[in-house]
Amino acid sequence: MSSSRSLKRLPLDRQMDDIVENSIEKIELVSLKNGHYYVSNFANVGVIMTTDGIVVIDTTLNKQHAKAIYNAIRQKSKLPIRYIIYTHGHLDHVNSTEVFKETNTQIIGHENIADRFYKYRKLNDYHLRINSVQFQGKLGLESFHFITPDITFSKEYKFKLGDKTIYLMHGKGETDDHCFVHVPEDNIVYSGDFFINAFPNIGNPLKVNRFEREWYETCQQIQELKPDVLVPGHGRALCSKQDIQDGLQAIIDVLRFVHEKVIDCLNKGMTLEMMLEEIELPSDLTNNKYIQPSYGCLEFAIKGTYRRYTGWFDGNPTNLQPCKQKDVANEILSLMKDANIILKRCRDLMDKGEYQMVLHLTDILIFSQDNIEAKELKKEAVRKCSETNSNFIIRNIYDQLYYKMGMI
Ligand SMILES: [Zn+2]
Repeated sequence: MSSSRSLKRLPLDRQMDDIVENSIEKIELVSLKNGHYYVSNFANVGVIMTTDGIVVIDTTLNKQHAKAIYNAIRQKSKLPIRYIIYTHGHLDHVNSTEVFKETNTQIIGHENIADRFYKYRKLNDYHLRINSVQFQGKLGLESFHFITPDITFSKEYKFKLGDKTIYLMHGKGETDDHCFVHVPEDNIVYSGDFFINAFPNIGNPLKVNRFEREWYETCQQIQELKPDVLVPGHGRALCSKQDIQDGLQAIIDVLRFVHEKVIDCLNKGMTLEMMLEEIELPSDLTNNKYIQPSYGCLEFAIKGTYRRYTGWFDGNPTNLQPCKQKDVANEILSLMKDANIILKRCRDLMDKGEYQMVLHLTDILIFSQDNIEAKELKKEAVRKCSETNSNFIIRNIYDQLYYKMGMI
């Protein structure tokens, strides 16, 4: 299907290809300053070489890539890896820990990471499934068994190693077990996913709630440190003070904007549908290069923030104890008498590019009579929904559903 795409491929698509191809030749330990390095990978790996040992920040997804990174570290230093720091417990930041863990290496992470790993183990099959959808089935994961931290902390943790002081500061954001790392001697910050060179991933359709207010408050904390270099969780490092301030300000502005708008709409008694209609980003945020909606996007952020502060009921009495979709579809079809009326309308809508409405209408025939023609039309509409969207997560969800519909 990818060969027939009308859209050009996204940078994240290419990163997924790299994971599959084990593109080890692209692994490069980039020198930042004074013993600080990073590797730009599917999730970045930070490396701090002190006079008394090495600190690795996050361990990335692909174990072959991790081995190449470990070898690159070993070409620069024979000192032991004394600590591995998890910026948070997402799989792409913790999956290859055993590659970097030496005999006396200690792993440091927030105290909530253990709970996250427990949840992953209990929901192993579910998480394999949803991550396969989100990441095109290319992660190569077989289970969610990760190495838990030896040292945990609640709010902050500080240690000295050789010539460097390492501060870990907790803040909620993409997860509740997140921290960023600051090394004051060199004024460098490893931000984890507080900054990812894209619209913050609040309100992911497949994942639990995230923390928009705490996320921007933590970015304000990072801003106050006025770092010279910022190594994000994903994407290229920022090496100019002004770029870092601007990038963080974009995250702060967009998350604060969404948070305040959704709260305001909730207090006014508006529904989610009304909010999605009402809330628009100001043009300076729409055009801001640091928050382009390639991964997260405004719609996800509104839905995620809404979901965080509300229950599942939308205020419409129809939806408090709804009938089965099949029964509703049968009622509608019995009124129309003729399935061809819906099929004809769906074909017109396909020609007009109104693919979402095709999904709604074909469901009436699929739920009521398992109509094969409606299933074919729905499948085609799903393919078009994917092709006409430039958001990585949305496209992957449509694509995976399209493949599953191949059996009809
Ligand atoms: Zn990440």
